[in-house]
Amino acid sequence: MALKYVDELELNDKKVIARFDFNVPLDKNDPTRITDTTRIDEALGTIEYILLNGASKLILMSHLGRPDGKPNPKYSLEPVAKYLAEKLKQDVVLTESCTDAGIKTLLSLPETKIVLLQNLRFHAEEEANDPDFCRKLASYADIYINDAFGTAHRKHASTYGINAFFKNRNAGGFLLKREIKALEKVVENPAKPFVAIVGGAKVSDKIKIIERLLTNVNHLLIGGAMAYPFLKAKGITVGKSLCADEDVALAKKILSHSSKTKVVLPIDHIVSSEFGGAPEVLNEENIPADKMGLDIGPKTLELYRSKLHGAKTVLWNGPMGLFENADFAKGTMGIAHTLAELPGAFTLVGGGDSVSAVNKSGVAEKMSHVSTGGGASLEFIEDGTLPGIQALKFGV
Ligand code: AMP
Repeated sequence: MALKYVDELELNDKKVIARFDFNVPLDKNDPTRITDTTRIDEALGTIEYILLNGASKLILMSHLGRPDGKPNPKYSLEPVAKYLAEKLKQDVVLTESCTDAGIKTLLSLPETKIVLLQNLRFHAEEEANDPDFCRKLASYADIYINDAFGTAHRKHASTYGINAFFKNRNAGGFLLKREIKALEKVVENPAKPFVAIVGGAKVSDKIKIIERLLTNVNHLLIGGAMAYPFLKAKGITVGKSLCADEDVALAKKILSHSSKTKVVLPIDHIVSSEFGGAPEVLNEENIPADKMGLDIGPKTLELYRSKLHGAKTVLWNGPMGLFENADFAKGTMGIAHTLAELPGAFTLVGGGDSVSAVNKSGVAEKMSHVSTGGGASLEFIEDGTLPGIQALKFGV
């Protein structure tokens, strides 16, 4: 069954409730200031479509941060309401909670058009997928739209359970569509050669994706702290580098598979005596006992570039080093620039830290797709779908 999108539903005169991922970063010193509005900007297409196509009311929902089921002004959606009102040039009324007694009355007022429900996670029922909470949210509208790709891997009330009340009256938004179409290019029959680059810190978080990728990649390039358990599993010394024993065991398991020849590991490193200390190029694989690896070295970058040469599909998740520190960012930036210059390749960047790295590199717009959902994009690659997408398609 194909997933329906918002432009396949009749919206005229309908009350529409839509779930977005407005979980934007706020300035630590001034929590009323949004430091990166990308997630809201990405939602504007769907919001404008709903409004232009005659919806009588638009009820917006999102979570922000981790308030743990209790109201907390620190995580108020107020800055989001303000930003949306500016962008849409219309009033956006923020409710006090998702279950205010006055919401129905508010929606009955002719002058009320757009309502933003306060942070869903002020209610413990949201993450518990509580049926009564789902029913309450559903009672506000005739149609449900899910455009919250970044939370589509969660079985929460607003992303999952709510679908039970909107049979044939639910659909995905345009951001969800863009994300799914891009990920499908990587998951279903990727154009070959297909090269995946996996970095970041923890093997255990990414073990499933690595195993899944090894079934169809031509090369799997490993960087970041992720590389050390693999190197150690091969008997190479890693010094003081980040390297958990449990990750070495997982790396050993992966390297024992028949597809191990696809795994490409660093052949040199940028090391330091301490976390964020002075950088040194280490011109070989083995890291001495008093040093830690904090980035891939120049020979490794050249090797990875050669493996990427001619690739038709590239997936990148996780930085190649401690890229937040410019001394250890060359590997990550080098990979970003290499992908930006690959002719004719479909390049997908997914996962929170690689996305911020690619944004930092200044070449984000040269990628075919930069996913807005970290965990969600990983789970999609592992499973080929997400609970929130399944619920839209088949109900709950
Ligand atoms: P992840 O969330 O698993 O993608 O990990 C990303 C984090 O891993 C970033 O904050 C990086 O700075 C960090 N990281 C990457 N490589 C290293 C390394 N060699 N040593 C320590 N931290 C690293």
